[in-house]
Amino acid sequence: VYVRKDMRGKELQKIFPALGTINTITLYESFAPEIAEQVKKRVLDLHRRFSLFEQGSDIFRINEQAGIITVPVHPDTFFVLSHALDYGWETQGAFDITSGAASRLWRDAIRSAQIPSESDIAGCRSLSGLTDLILDKADGTAFLRRNGQQIDLGGIAKGYAADEAVRILKKYKVHNALINFGGTVIAIGREQKMGIQNPFQKNGESMADVMVKNKAVVTSGSYERGFFFEGIRYHHIIDPRTGRPADSELLSVTLIGDSAMELDALATGICVLGEEKGLPLLEKRGIEAVFISNDGEVRITRGLQRDFF
Ligand code: AMP
Ligand code: MG
Repeated sequence: VYVRKDMRGKELQKIFPALGTINTITLYESFAPEIAEQVKKRVLDLHRRFSLFEQGSDIFRINEQAGIITVPVHPDTFFVLSHALDYGWETQGAFDITSGAASRLWRDAIRSAQIPSESDIAGCRSLSGLTDLILDKADGTAFLRRNGQQIDLGGIAKGYAADEAVRILKKYKVHNALINFGGTVIAIGREQKMGIQNPFQKNGESMADVMVKNKAVVTSGSYERGFFFEGIRYHHIIDPRTGRPADSELLSVTLIGDSAMELDALATGICVLGEEKGLPLLEKRGIEAVFISNDGEVRITRGLQRDFF
């Protein structure tokens, strides 16, 4: 999702790259640059812990030591890893942070617009497994059982960061703010109009709008990154069961609820699981949803009817 232009009142905005995306913190009314700076610092810390690519990040070290030795990690990392495993079980393995090898394979494939070999796909697929990530709460360590296994927090990290941003803003009694971490959005205080990206159009063209207040909104979409080859689209949301881009008939899943981390994980998972299997998970947790299917059809959950147009 993205935020439709909000013209009311003055604002202070901080924009910076982290977590593989562009992040925006907007404060309305309260002009406290040091608060925005605190939030930014927190997000950069999280980036340094969660990054796949920065040598020495917790995730980098877990991956580097896969099959070798347990790795002590920061409590932030431990928290996200253990919740990510829970979402993994809850989505029947559709959301799987241990499918990092397959994610990397397809990331490279998308970059070069070339389909990986069958043996590479099979190899990466066999490397995912929720039971292979061993977390030890008492020691604060993480361990991947098998050589070559890879954790990838790309499907959940922005959500956790957004929740943390809100926690800091609340601590400083900021009542009107907007967090937008690469389309993972939380509106605090004033009501905001969120545009749901039209998967068939360029960025910034919405298919529908939702009004949101004191809620998080997260979109996962296979349309975001990918390429076409011989009429078939290959993208970045991987079905861990096949080791290939998910094929659930959904182009995008937008979720509205309270915890951005939860929404982030479930939105990615439901892109894999599909609408039918996803709905009961959402109902149980009081999460509203907008689904856009391959043929461009838009469906919403009942609780959203008043705020959707
Ligand atoms: P999101 O934008 O939140 O949907 O996250 C997409 C990113 O999550 C991808 O770029 C991968 O890094 C990672 N990912 C892809 N497939 C999965 C999956 N099935 N479970 C968990 N993470 C995934
Ligand atoms: Mg996600």
